[in-house]
Amino acid sequence: MKCMHCGGAMERGKMPFHVDRGGIHLTVDEVPAWICQQCGEPYFEERAVDTIQAMIRALDKETQNLAAAG
Ligand SMILES: [Zn+2]
Repeated sequence: MKCMHCGGAMERGKMPFHVDRGGIHLTVDEVPAWICQQCGEPYFEERAVDTIQAMIRALDKETQNLAAAG
């Protein structure tokens, strides 16, 4: 696997992942990713992205509950 930006070698590692969505700001400190050893560009695997999307869906739901409670 090579970096799509610079063609550098990719290595397994962990990267933080940030999501800003409406009033929700989610940061996951350590998400498994492939990281370019040359330019540092991370590529997140589908499984990690799916998991984060599930977290966002859960947050959305709870945020709606919170709004309803007000
Ligand atoms: Zn690169």
